Amino acid sequence: MDLSREAATNRIAELEKEYQHYLKSPMNLTITRGVPGKEQLALSEPMLGLLNKPEDFISQETIDIRNYGELTGIYEAKKLFSELLGAGIEETVIGGNSSLSLMYLVLTTKFFMGEHPWQAEEKVKFLCPSPGYDRHFSMTEHLGIEMIPVEMDENGPKMDEVERLVSNDAAIKGIWCVPTYSNPTGVTYSDEVVDRLATMTTKAPDFTILWDNAYLVHHLTDVHETAKNILTTCKTVGNADRVWMFCSTSKITFPGAGVAALAASKANVALIADELSYQTIGYDKLNQMRHVKFLQNPEQVAAHMAKHAAILKPKFDLIKEKLHERFDGKPLVEWTEPAGGYFVHLTTLDGCATKIVAALDKIGVKVTNAGATYPYGKNPRDNSIRLAPTPVALADLDQAMNAIGLCIELVSLEKMYS
Ligand code: PLP
Repeated sequence: MDLSREAATNRIAELEKEYQHYLKSPMNLTITRGVPGKEQLALSEPMLGLLNKPEDFISQETIDIRNYGELTGIYEAKKLFSELLGAGIEETVIGGNSSLSLMYLVLTTKFFMGEHPWQAEEKVKFLCPSPGYDRHFSMTEHLGIEMIPVEMDENGPKMDEVERLVSNDAAIKGIWCVPTYSNPTGVTYSDEVVDRLATMTTKAPDFTILWDNAYLVHHLTDVHETAKNILTTCKTVGNADRVWMFCSTSKITFPGAGVAALAASKANVALIADELSYQTIGYDKLNQMRHVKFLQNPEQVAAHMAKHAAILKPKFDLIKEKLHERFDGKPLVEWTEPAGGYFVHLTTLDGCATKIVAALDKIGVKVTNAGATYPYGKNPRDNSIRLAPTPVALADLDQAMNAIGLCIELVSLEKMYS
């Protein structure tokens, strides 16, 4: 941007004045977390009334789902989720309402169980494509796993760097991946990235890919991005036990009462089923059946997700329009325009993100902490902000975007011209 110092000083003064107005009457808006809005939750309310006849409580014609049992899920749910994840029915395990807790289960199982439990290692490290999902990173940190950030580009994690690291260090035991409409950058992994992850030579023989496909059917437009099936590729190249795929209906039906699933090789399924058997006699099968009756099959899931998209797309469009309107021709910020998922990611000038988030906080607009999407909450460039617009009404989002635009411009110009 080519402003004379005088023009910049005048513009900063103008923006300061506007900011002072906001300070006097702060807003109360929160766009920190990717949660569905009320209108989206209402889409799945009919599901709650679907079990109302005696035969609705029977799975595969004989199993009473009100009772104990079916540790790895009822057949009907396994069938639905195996189709969504692209795995065999016997490669699929149905969990409770949280895919995160299935990921935690896999990590703790790797730590304490199996032939070579990680607890015997001096050090365990994980690759963390960044920016990424903050809860992945807090989980890894909580388990004492050292996190190594790896940059993301438009195709997924930078694979030259991933391959270099995993081929040299046996302590690197795994990698986090959000392959479709990645949180927060919206990137869907290219086929090449998937192939390289599945086939790469790793110094750790038990290298583990946690493939969190949280947004696998969460399209916002008619362009439906889909990451290649990594379990199939891993099996083809003889690395069947390398990958664990996860998904849930948290953002299809209800985050508070959805169904989660994982898919993995038969050996991995046996390992996890054994571990699970010490924790539960079975998850909530009534909820599994409710979901099966409501979502039915991948086609019905797609039809349901189109209803979510109709609610969400105007919010993503609004963000896009507001950013174009304010920043076209001004290289103060770059933003993503994702075809799916729950987030818009802003790349600010280096060293500005924390100040922008703090300036917003003071005027009552809460966005995710600037470093939260990086391991240990530390982004060395301090240039990343995640917007999570889904739960906010359009009118509120409009106001929030005015404030966000103002704070980005003000903080950036102050940085450039002070
Ligand atoms: N994985 C990713 C990438 C997410 O963004 C989220 C929620 O925001 C989750 C997992 C949470 O999944 P669940 O509700 O199934 O635990």
